[in-house]
Amino acid sequence: MSSFALSEIIAHADRRVLAAVVTHLSGDARAVPDLRDRSQIEAKAAEVLPPYLDGSAMPVPPDDEVLQAAMNHAVGAEVPPEYRQMAREQAGIGPIQPLAPLQAPDGFHVLIIGSGVTGVLAARTLHQLGMTNFTIVDRNPEPGGTWYVNRYPGCRVDTPSMLYSYSFDQDPDWPEHFSRQPELLRYVKAVADRSGLGERLRNGTEVTAMTWDEEAACWQVDLRRVADGSTDRVAANAVIAAMGILRVPKYPDLPGRERFAGPALHTAEWDPSVSLEGKRVAVVGTGASANQVVPAVAPIAEKLVVFQRSAHWMMSHPKYGKQLQGIEKALFQVPTYREWHRFSEGWKFGDGVTPLVQVDPDWPHLERSVNEASDRFRASLTEYLESQVGDRPDLMEKCLPNFPPYGKRLIVDNGWYQALRRDNVRLETSPIVEVTGTGITTRAGHDDFDVLVFATGFQADKVLWPIQVTGRGGVDVTARMEENPEAYLGLAAADAPNLFITPGPNGTLGHGGNGILSAECHVRYIVESLRLLFERGARSMVVTDEALAAYNDDLLARLPNFVQSLTTFDNWYRGDRDRVIAIAPKSLLEFWNDTRQPDPSAYSFA
Ligand code: NAP
Repeated sequence: MSSFALSEIIAHADRRVLAAVVTHLSGDARAVPDLRDRSQIEAKAAEVLPPYLDGSAMPVPPDDEVLQAAMNHAVGAEVPPEYRQMAREQAGIGPIQPLAPLQAPDGFHVLIIGSGVTGVLAARTLHQLGMTNFTIVDRNPEPGGTWYVNRYPGCRVDTPSMLYSYSFDQDPDWPEHFSRQPELLRYVKAVADRSGLGERLRNGTEVTAMTWDEEAACWQVDLRRVADGSTDRVAANAVIAAMGILRVPKYPDLPGRERFAGPALHTAEWDPSVSLEGKRVAVVGTGASANQVVPAVAPIAEKLVVFQRSAHWMMSHPKYGKQLQGIEKALFQVPTYREWHRFSEGWKFGDGVTPLVQVDPDWPHLERSVNEASDRFRASLTEYLESQVGDRPDLMEKCLPNFPPYGKRLIVDNGWYQALRRDNVRLETSPIVEVTGTGITTRAGHDDFDVLVFATGFQADKVLWPIQVTGRGGVDVTARMEENPEAYLGLAAADAPNLFITPGPNGTLGHGGNGILSAECHVRYIVESLRLLFERGARSMVVTDEALAAYNDDLLARLPNFVQSLTTFDNWYRGDRDRVIAIAPKSLLEFWNDTRQPDPSAYSFA
């Protein structure tokens, strides 16, 4: 199986994951009586693993009792039993009930907009369920979505790759624990290739407008070829708008921005022909994108000034930036190790952190944390910050955030603090007054630059924009969405029959780092909605006003309980709005449960 001896493999295994593996493979819920006893776990592994490693035994899905014990071991805590089915399906522990084939009526055409992680998933799923009549369009010349678009130096994922991958395609040859952009692009393209999309995938084609045709019960969709501007109109009975929420770059509203004479690049609109080698570079912004671009640029720039409006919380991860090779790679070939590792990481990056985001209404220190656990977490993050810049009181003061952890997205440190310590790097906290032809002026002074980098994020509230969507009764759905972004289950908008926006407003999760999981939830729901439509012999379905209103009332009642809703700081979940519009105030489990099956009473069918 690998060139490593069993004893070496066992010695390098994660104790908790190994405990879950031996519990699963032995079929004995009591195989590991004490999770702290590594030597007992190793001895049990030495006894249980050999037939699975030489191929004479094959793992079988565990019964509920064994599954529960293994789940608890994998995360070192009691996992509520409600998580069992999600673990079986999402971690790949099985059994997995495959979705039944879809029997679409003759001529029923589905259009998917976007060939990123979600669009490719939707296309693959339809194809696999036997639907042939669909088209997937994307303005970019190849699939990949965000991983095609974001090409700034240092770009990578900050969720472990073994987790940030489709549940049905978990075994890519990731060279690092947290993959870089080229690897992620390769992965999404490979899944698209394996999905047999053929001619149905039309890259270099954008949707400019779509209008609901009541009589024909379909969307008349206007397409435009990016290369030559030629246009076309197609009819689509259903549309899956899988364009993503971190799509429309947000440029900072700084006086004089257009006056700068040199290159001024947004991280999401990178121009690789602009070299930063030996240049005087400004980076505006200190979020997740800046955290990746700054450490990549600092060693090559002559001078780098980072303009900070707010410090962000950063955690460290022992595997971030590390190769995935040798014995670590061999571990993932141990039957069920990869699955239990995925479950364990899924918990740490998902609902394991739910207690940290929920506001305790009686908590007296909302300016720094939202409950006792959040306060302890803040202390551990502060300790990490001290370990990085504790000997630099200037940086310590500037880098200590003044809001509770998870209020803005928590960042995995990519060498941010070490980059700020460099002699050629300065962290500037004086507010920017203006951009001039040669540089940036703050209240404290002026710097000249050769290149400006705007790591200033995205307008997450641009849900359907710039597509002009005209729905039932001539309703301007795009304008309404601009005015009041709301959608049932974060996906179905009023007066927009057979349109599924994924993710739409409040259609993804803030604490769960794995966007692929929420995409899988939404795509399952869409498929089940189409099935419902077909089984009823209906041509269209649209969310009822009552269902949408009830859903929104519940959403608005829940939102204040989440740290992201506090208004003492900004975040992209809220943007310029008066409430969070980007993420759902739910646990991952709730999101997963809510999207298993559509509730027919929430829709009117015609
Ligand atoms: P972001 O988190 O919204 O950060 C934007 C930064 O720009 C903030 O520091 C913001 O300051 C600053 N800013 C905005 N306007 C400004 C202005 N006028 N003057 C000065 N500063 C200004 O955007 P992002 O870093 O692109 O990340 C967005 C999301 O994309 C992330 O949260 C994450 O979900 C995703 N992402 C993921 C990865 C990954 O590793 N997987 C990498 C990049 C992005 P304030 O904080 O004061 O508002």
